[in-house]
Amino acid sequence: MDLSIITTYRCNSRCQMCYIWKNPTDPKEEVKLETLEKLPDGFDNVNLTGGEPTLRRDLAELVDVVYPKARILEISSNGLHPERLVPIIKKYPDIKVRFSLEGNEETNNTIRGEKKGFETKLKGIRMLKEAGGTDLGFAIVIQDENADQLVKVYEMARAEGVELATSTLHNAWQFYKNDNYFYDRVKVAHEVEGLITGMLKTWKIKNWFRAYLNLGLIEKILGHDRIIRCTAGTDFAFIDPWSDVWACNVRSDLPLGNLVNQSWEEILESKKARESIAKVADCRQNCWMVTTARTAMRSPIIPQIPKWSPLAWVMWNKMKVTLGGAVNFDQYIDYGHVPPSPLKPRQSFLGIKVKVQVQRGLNKVEERYPLVNFYNR
Ligand code: SF4
Repeated sequence: MDLSIITTYRCNSRCQMCYIWKNPTDPKEEVKLETLEKLPDGFDNVNLTGGEPTLRRDLAELVDVVYPKARILEISSNGLHPERLVPIIKKYPDIKVRFSLEGNEETNNTIRGEKKGFETKLKGIRMLKEAGGTDLGFAIVIQDENADQLVKVYEMARAEGVELATSTLHNAWQFYKNDNYFYDRVKVAHEVEGLITGMLKTWKIKNWFRAYLNLGLIEKILGHDRIIRCTAGTDFAFIDPWSDVWACNVRSDLPLGNLVNQSWEEILESKKARESIAKVADCRQNCWMVTTARTAMRSPIIPQIPKWSPLAWVMWNKMKVTLGGAVNFDQYIDYGHVPPSPLKPRQSFLGIKVKVQVQRGLNKVEERYPLVNFYNR
């Protein structure tokens, strides 16, 4: 099972597509070390995320607790405090670190409201490389504002000798946002095709499967069904800063339990968990975030190998691209049927001062997550 631990909602970025930063948690109320100690061993990928995890003063101790429980420990960071990760990487060089990067200097800083974001992240990734990091990379949220830079960012990451993870606009309780919509779905989707072809041209098996993952992103962008059904609550779960455990980070009606009041085993066996997992089977949202997609691509019998459909797609298209052909995207994607999406302009917060208030004493889920309906199509 994969697990994302949302360590805090404090964040020093000011993103236009995620409003976590407008809802900072009180450090005293955030998930504690002794709570995470209750997690069993044997997770596949555990992601320490946020908000911004480097704002947790106890991040190094948190890593000490969680590292032995996962095959892969990942830290998703905005990269604005790379120096805080250096001692962690020196101790655990194989920790996977991804810095959010949304394009070139101007685009990144505009989308993420970060004054010197681009520069800091680039220096930061080099800093972690020097510290001995072996699994480093950038992560981009594909949107209208940066889609035309996608291939360039991928090439930049390759030139730096690091990875590029991709996701795209989502509405979700985690992001406190339910009005993220593409301005021009088809244009954005076509830009992703170039990345898919670029990934298939490499000689890294991981990249070929990432190409398939990006095929799923195209379907998400176009408002089509997921290419593989979702396994939220069964193959992955989220822990929020109040130690509540959720099947996914999108629908706020899929709770599993609470890690302070229950053991992990009690949570998974609870009636609440069974009810939420049953709802997942009928979910009509078309999310395709790396957590939901990666787990869905795995064989249910041998999780180390992919399901037959992604494997067959990868083998066929790798062969085609290697022989000088091109991926026939029209064979897989119905560009003729693209539902319209509402025009909701996104606002850059670069250089704009917004007063934010720490969320204190919010005891009920409805108070913590006032937005209720999240729609992804
Ligand atoms: S498809 Fe449904 S259950 Fe799966 S992550 Fe999205 S909202 Fe959650």
